[in-house]
Amino acid sequence: MKQKGRELALALVFGLLLPMLMVHGAGNLAGVYVPPAPTDPPGTTGPAGAPEVRVRMEEETVTMDLEEYLVGVVLGEMPASFEPEALKAQAVVARTYTLRRHTTAPKHPEGGVCTDPACCQAWRDPAECDSENLEKVRRAVLDTAGLVLTYEGALIEATYFASSGGRTEDAVAVWGSDLPYLQAVDSPEEAYADRDMATVTMTAAEFSDALGLTLSGSPGSWVRSVTYTNGGGVETMDIGGHVFRGTELRSLLGLRSTAFVISASADGVTVTTRGHGHRVGMSQYGAQAMALDGSTFDEILAHYYRGTILEESIDIVGLLG
Ligand SMILES: [Zn+2]
Repeated sequence: MKQKGRELALALVFGLLLPMLMVHGAGNLAGVYVPPAPTDPPGTTGPAGAPEVRVRMEEETVTMDLEEYLVGVVLGEMPASFEPEALKAQAVVARTYTLRRHTTAPKHPEGGVCTDPACCQAWRDPAECDSENLEKVRRAVLDTAGLVLTYEGALIEATYFASSGGRTEDAVAVWGSDLPYLQAVDSPEEAYADRDMATVTMTAAEFSDALGLTLSGSPGSWVRSVTYTNGGGVETMDIGGHVFRGTELRSLLGLRSTAFVISASADGVTVTTRGHGHRVGMSQYGAQAMALDGSTFDEILAHYYRGTILEESIDIVGLLG
């Protein structure tokens, strides 16, 4: 028994352990210097290891320090006169949006983000701002440095828009894909109701041309039935026997949102909208209303992006690499 045990031990040393040791130690024994794998590829970190992002401005794509880029986004996306907590919520959302575009969900073939607010995020050159506003916005970005929103460990699709008309919209109602953290919630922005409403008036001919329809009879009879989304937007609308989606009508008629009512008379058609934007995610005016009411930026974010986690431990440099 003892002999067998020793044989087994020797077999282990020569048969298994020794080859492993040899393979493992080969590089060191040869004395060849192997440079470490680059952890900071060019273009993704600044001189001090700060994360950098790619920003497409008209025809050229520039590399910018992430946090410095975010100062320009907050300046471009939200009035600097807004409450500090609303500006901080905007900074976190913009950071999350930017990092997601650079990693799991790219929107441009060359990666990164652009400065078209209809596509990615607006950006305003900080050099063009007065020092008081700039300082206020810079403080909001700095106070939330590195903070992002995640859901089940992944960066969220942090969409936002100007105003909601009182309730936000489910992602599925606008883009057709359901996201658990982008669900309709009430948005307390009654104080901005006047600003929130808009009216578009058109003649009967303009209305039917915009829809590509040949409609006859009294405009008052054209709208036959309407269904609504969970967020109070138009889901479908039957106009003269043609069923349109609310998102389609928003685009065809150039409306500010899908939350609208149509009233028609012999003179023409009036469309009244509530809210401005796709209404999915955070309402900027809602964030401002919440901040004025005493909510902190993390409370604002938890309200608009249900079930998400505000994280500061995420490895942004690693993500961008
Ligand atoms: Zn874009």
